[in-house]
Amino acid sequence: MTHLDWRKEADFMVATQIESRGVRDKHVLAAMKRVPRHLFVFPEYISLAYFDAPLPIGKNQTISQPYMVARMTELLRVSKGMSVLEVGTGSGYQAAILAEMGASVVSLERIEFLAQRAEEVLSQLGYSVMVVVADGRQGYAPKAPYDGILVTAAADIVEEPWQEQLAMGGRIVLPLSIEPGLQRLLVMEKKGEGLWLENWYDYCRFVPVVSGISKQEIHENNDT
Ligand code: SAH
Repeated sequence: MTHLDWRKEADFMVATQIESRGVRDKHVLAAMKRVPRHLFVFPEYISLAYFDAPLPIGKNQTISQPYMVARMTELLRVSKGMSVLEVGTGSGYQAAILAEMGASVVSLERIEFLAQRAEEVLSQLGYSVMVVVADGRQGYAPKAPYDGILVTAAADIVEEPWQEQLAMGGRIVLPLSIEPGLQRLLVMEKKGEGLWLENWYDYCRFVPVVSGISKQEIHENNDT
């Protein structure tokens, strides 16, 4: 894909899938146009990279649908210099969008293979994201508190460490399971000790949050 091609595809993606569905944050729209999404997928999926769909990234995981990335980023209200914890690095694409918007990002991934690949692409593109192989259900205390926490896998509960590691006034955006196989985006804003403002948004389908970490050889059976 040439530079011009992907720029055109990214512009078209933003116009037809993201703006058209009501995402208004100019910085989100600009970041979605600037980050080369095709570099976060396997070569065989490059021609589908800007389609309106999630795509496989190996290890039974997916890069989220572009609209969902934009929507969650908008709900997080990202601004320059904000510190963000992402749970579920996956391809690294969502982390790149946050970094492109000037956030300082720590991203947690339980599957070492995915974390390593994401880290490679992110650093090639010049994004300084701290990718950590860890069980994201524990959050990441060393860099807390965070101004925002974005969970990009389906959660059954809002884990205590996320609540504790969020700064006052900060927001957690996550897909919370409401029935098997179906989640709804929840935004929780920390208003005071034990005082949260909650709002519900889109219905969605994410791969689940799974406990523990998975360390595997990079070269074995990458696409399962
Ligand atoms: N944000 C990603 C998409 C995430 S898919 C992107 O932009 O591509 C969800 C990811 O969450 C998967 O990679 C999965 O391995 C990871 N995950 C699931 N449970 C986790 C946990 N407990 N801790 C860290 N990562 C987890």
